[in-house]
Amino acid sequence: MTTVPAIDGWFATDESGATHLIGGKCVGCGTFVFPPRETNCPNPGCASDELALVPLSRRGTLWSYTENRYAPPPPYPSPDPFEPFAVAAVELADEGLIVLGKVVEGTLAADLHVGMTMELTTMTLYTDDDGVERTTHAWRIAK
Ligand SMILES: [Zn+2]
Repeated sequence: MTTVPAIDGWFATDESGATHLIGGKCVGCGTFVFPPRETNCPNPGCASDELALVPLSRRGTLWSYTENRYAPPPPYPSPDPFEPFAVAAVELADEGLIVLGKVVEGTLAADLHVGMTMELTTMTLYTDDDGVERTTHAWRIAK
C-alpha cells in the first residue's frame, strides 16, 4: 500500500518514525506560523519577509475540541458510511501556536478534556482513485 501526504510539506517523519509538523519561523522576530510558508511574517511589528521551515513540537496541550457528527459536503473526502470524529485545537507552548487537527479514530469528545497532553501522529484521510492512501497530521492522547 502506498501512502502519500494529502498535502505536501505540512509534516515529516524522522529516522525513528516520529512525525513532526513543519512550521515557518520568522528569521527576524522568531514568530511561528502553521501551515508553513516562507514569506509574509504575521507579526505586524516586524519588517522581515523571510520565514525558515522548522520542525514544530510533537506535543502540546489540548486548548479546545469539538466533535463532527455530519459528513462534510463534497469536494471534501469522507468515508461512507460516515463516522463521527473529534477535532482538536492543540497549543504548542514553545511556538505560541494553536494547531487544528483531526483526532485519531476511536477517540471522541467524551474522551477529551481541556489541558490534557496531546501528541502528533498521522492518519489516513482518504484513499484516492488510484488506491493511494492520502495521510494527514492528527492528534492523539499522549501516552
Ligand atoms: Zn517577523
